[in-house]
Amino acid sequence: MYSGLRSIGGVVATVTRGRDRVVFEIGAAYDPATDFYTGGLGPRPEGWLRDGLRLGLVPWIDGLYPAAALDGLEGIVPAEDSDLNTAVFVSHLHLDHMAYMGAVHRDIPVYLSPNGQRIEAALEETGDGVRGWRDSYTAFTPGEPIAVGQIELLPLVSFTPAYGHSSCLITTPEGSLHWTGDLVMQRPEELANRLRDIELFRRRGGLDVLICDCTEFSDEAAIAACSDGSGAIVPSLDLPVGWESFPAMAAGRRRALAEVEGLAAFNFYPREMEDVEMLVELGGLTGREVVFEPDAAWLVGRYFGTWPKYYVPDAARYADWPGVEAGRAGLAREAGQAEQAGRAWRPGRAGEAWQARLAREAERVTRQMVARDPARYLLQIGYPHLLELFDLPSAGGAYLQMGGVPMYDGDPNHARMVELAGRAGFRYVKFDDHMNMRHSPPSMVRHYVDAIDPRVLIPAHGANPERLAAKSGRWFQPEYGVVYRLAEGDLVPVQDADLVADPIADPA
Ligand SMILES: [Zn+2]
Repeated sequence: MYSGLRSIGGVVATVTRGRDRVVFEIGAAYDPATDFYTGGLGPRPEGWLRDGLRLGLVPWIDGLYPAAALDGLEGIVPAEDSDLNTAVFVSHLHLDHMAYMGAVHRDIPVYLSPNGQRIEAALEETGDGVRGWRDSYTAFTPGEPIAVGQIELLPLVSFTPAYGHSSCLITTPEGSLHWTGDLVMQRPEELANRLRDIELFRRRGGLDVLICDCTEFSDEAAIAACSDGSGAIVPSLDLPVGWESFPAMAAGRRRALAEVEGLAAFNFYPREMEDVEMLVELGGLTGREVVFEPDAAWLVGRYFGTWPKYYVPDAARYADWPGVEAGRAGLAREAGQAEQAGRAWRPGRAGEAWQARLAREAERVTRQMVARDPARYLLQIGYPHLLELFDLPSAGGAYLQMGGVPMYDGDPNHARMVELAGRAGFRYVKFDDHMNMRHSPPSMVRHYVDAIDPRVLIPAHGANPERLAAKSGRWFQPEYGVVYRLAEGDLVPVQDADLVADPIADPA
């Protein structure tokens, strides 16, 4: 393992057999201690991979990154100089699982779920894909094994919408390893699929190694809600007290929206396609049209195959939008800037092709249309465009925070968002709690782990792995930089470096 122990996310690990290798996940752990890029200090456009490796942000893995980008960086083998046959598995498009997938040499396949692949492709079209030098990723077929030489990589999906929640079962002649990815089982579909996986492991004679997401074991309230009098976590497939069910949350959203008399503007996380489905349903139930900002509209259109209505906020990114240009040109003429006034829309220019196509194919909702009938709209105004609210009708209006960034109460930008929405005359409504973004409660994870009862349990992706005990197998935390051999259902540290096909260099 390269990272992801005792950290929120960032599980990066490899399984190697002979010259064959699976890298599972290539993301960034959230760690304030290595949060170097603040205060104007940012990644360098050309040297970002080398810097990331030097700073310990990018996993130090031989035979993965192109020589040109490494530019002679010492102690790491470029992909071109490696004879390993590598495949990379990414469970979903959250940064802690895929932030560095663009850095992988383009000859090495990177596998994503079909929906994840579709969303990443749409993001690449708007220039918002991951940083790197490749522009394509391979969609796996859920439940269909991929042969990586002598290793079988079996991708499993537990939640179809959006890019959420796949996991992988890696099997070699010596044994099996399952990485849960983000373990989320609160919705019926997710639970059914995870129970299906448990059955699969059983049919295959049990699991040797389970690397299990233990995120919620760090939440004291969640632990308390899932424990009995003695403090032991009780296995259960029911939601613990205080965890609202998805139907209850949906009812709450309908009630909250029904109380809004004017414009309902919202802030959401645009890659979450299940939230898009929820918004469209909610719009239908409350007689409102859902309108997205251009970038979100592009994703929605590319993902679902039908174009939603869109609204163009006054933002630098959309400054050349057809129709917006006329207004800007008018202002420029008044200011005597003849040259700027004559500047025309330039469709088809690299990076703008998507805008031209959206403008051509989708229907635009203007500020004037919203002003005429504010209660008719459920309108995305993301935090970066919050000042747009000043020019929108505020009477009876509300600003609905539904999982968009800035997400958390402790974030200073969150306080700013609340204040500015208020100054613009909009009632701020915390529209949804973050229950739908939470990982499984400890009681559910307990049930899951006990039902699998792996020979080795490695709790990961959370700060308190010690709280997730093994049932009858061995509880284990590997050390970074140490290679373990899987033999007879156990992991044994490898002493002789010559036995190892892929020696790990430790950035530390
Ligand atoms: Zn995660």
